[in-house]
Amino acid sequence: MVLRECGICQSSVYPTEATTTCPKCGLTFHAECWRENWGCAAYGCEQVNVLKPRDANEPVVEELPPPIVTETERLPGDFVLLGAAAIALLASALSYGVPSLLVGLGIGWRAIKKKIWRDPKIFASRPILAAAAGLVLLGFAGGIVVSTFWWHRE
Ligand SMILES: [Zn+2]
Ligand SMILES: [Zn+2]
Repeated sequence: MVLRECGICQSSVYPTEATTTCPKCGLTFHAECWRENWGCAAYGCEQVNVLKPRDANEPVVEELPPPIVTETERLPGDFVLLGAAAIALLASALSYGVPSLLVGLGIGWRAIKKKIWRDPKIFASRPILAAAAGLVLLGFAGGIVVSTFWWHRE
């Protein structure tokens, strides 16, 4: 015995099947169809999409992970100074360590600006900057020695 037709899947609804009757328009649907259809299928019925999650209609806004400001911001500058310190190390050999001194001033300025000179673990937290400072000291001291020998050799 056929009761009626499901308005969603257009097939017969048998009395043995679980049904859902729309509380607004009174149409009967398979309970499963009602769920999968998010509610009634009658055009203009208030129960259309009544089961649909509210935010399923809205476009999904992808949440970008918060930028890691400290890491991305601090590293390039440190690497630039490290590169400058390496170049200055070579240039200082014949110029009494002046290039290394200039890079050292840059490192000092950066350390003061970033307030990292107060950090007791500066060498652990800023290894790149610490390495640059080491190159600067090496370039400055080595530059004076090498330049003295170079320009005063007879
Ligand atoms: Zn159905
Ligand atoms: Zn309805």
